[in-house]
Amino acid sequence: MVSYTVWLMEPIAAEEFAQIYARFHVPIAALDCGGRCAPYNEWGAPFCCDTHHVVPVVYATEWEFLQANTDLWHLWEDKTPAETEQLKSIAPEGQVLIECKGYKLCQRGFRSLACRAFPFFPYLTRQGQFIGLSVYWEYEERCWVINNLQIASMKYRDEFIRTFDDLFARLPEEVEVFRQFSARMRRVFGRRHSAIPLLHRNGGYYKISPRDGRARKTSPEKFRLYGPYKIAAGLPFPDELGMGDDIELNGAG
Ligand code: SF4
Ligand code: SF4
Repeated sequence: MVSYTVWLMEPIAAEEFAQIYARFHVPIAALDCGGRCAPYNEWGAPFCCDTHHVVPVVYATEWEFLQANTDLWHLWEDKTPAETEQLKSIAPEGQVLIECKGYKLCQRGFRSLACRAFPFFPYLTRQGQFIGLSVYWEYEERCWVINNLQIASMKYRDEFIRTFDDLFARLPEEVEVFRQFSARMRRVFGRRHSAIPLLHRNGGYYKISPRDGRARKTSPEKFRLYGPYKIAAGLPFPDELGMGDDIELNGAG
């Protein structure tokens, strides 16, 4: 089990989250991606809405805002106290592990920032330049979006970039957090000898060389596929794996 975080930041006032949420509201795509990944989850939920896979982490003031405005969320606790303590111990200081009531009861207006950003994070160059969106690669065999990056709309990409531009301008220390995370991705992909996928802020699709950080323009169908999505893509009729139905879900995506 892992947690993911959007940023480690100095306090932003709780009431400011209404505006931050309003400016980063559009879904990744017009279709419900949760219906595409959920069939592969033994618990039947979209992976990023299932705390067996992902425990959202929010900053304390975001938690304050959520508590004051919705009953959707509660503090996350594993059934095993040791597991709870273990995950709490690796959460960044001042951040809170939370869990919602589940994807069937999602309130889209009160999705956390972690929900809105997933599966993307702001990718930074060695020099600390925020050049676009890359993905939490740990989920590449689970998340359908990671295997269908062309699906992310320009509007979503714009909102994501604007949100992080604003936050980086206000909280410059966050640049370092994501610069280091991007460096970690370069190390992992360097060992794999594979290129990093990037949705560039200029609107294009790029492959980044993990060795020297060079960006090569590409097209989304040239990005690698993983896990069941790779298998499905090789079938003459991908719907045979149950991939064709748009299941009605209210959760992520
Ligand atoms: S972003 Fe969409 S496809 Fe990816 S895990 Fe979440 S619901 Fe599934
Ligand atoms: S998107 Fe909705 S259902 Fe999924 S974790 Fe976030 S609040 Fe819960």
